[in-house]
Amino acid sequence: MPEWFHQSIVTCCNEETFIHESAYIDEPCQIGHGTNIMHFCHIMSNSVIGSHCQIGHNVTIASGVLVGNNVRVLNNAMLNSGVILEDEVFCGPSTVFAPLKYMRGEAGNISTIHPTLVKHGANIGAQTTIASGLTIGQHTFVESGSVIDRNIPDFALVCGNPVQFAGWRCECGQILKFSGKDQTTCPRCGKQYIQQSEVEIIQLATGSSTHDPHIQPSSTIRDFEEFH
Ligand SMILES: [Zn+2]
Repeated sequence: MPEWFHQSIVTCCNEETFIHESAYIDEPCQIGHGTNIMHFCHIMSNSVIGSHCQIGHNVTIASGVLVGNNVRVLNNAMLNSGVILEDEVFCGPSTVFAPLKYMRGEAGNISTIHPTLVKHGANIGAQTTIASGLTIGQHTFVESGSVIDRNIPDFALVCGNPVQFAGWRCECGQILKFSGKDQTTCPRCGKQYIQQSEVEIIQLATGSSTHDPHIQPSSTIRDFEEFH
């Protein structure tokens, strides 16, 4: 590891946190241990960043944003107020979360913030734009350059502008094929999935081999039906 890497550690966080001297940190905010915040970032007050996160160059994290643990936010991304990233989310470079649902330029015309939730393990490709007030499901895979204007269900693979459904991916990243059946097993990692409908799949618990009628989908997202 290069010598400069630990030169700019700030004591306001903890000894394992690295914040480059060119970054602005508006206190109060919380930054977890083992998190790295690189050059020219702006972390605004009342935001929370978890442990072992990687925040790339020139990233803006606005007031009230919540970032979980082991999250990667790459260069030039913009996380506006209301954004919540759960653990292990990946935001590619120049990802933009729209600031508000309804906004005009006049001074004082600020609408209510609508939370945008990105669930555990979601992968958002470079230069994706995400409208305010949406939910992106766990382990979804958003291709680079997408424009997200609706909710995205768990494990979905989506792309384009307007965003289109392109398939399902396993938690491990493998493409899932149901081939007319309602259940499939990932050929790479062995995890099992059940297709509840054209717009919804759920993952079975490890070791489960049959459909458990008590399993509930983690989310029910009707907007996704617009893809079909
Ligand atoms: Zn898998």
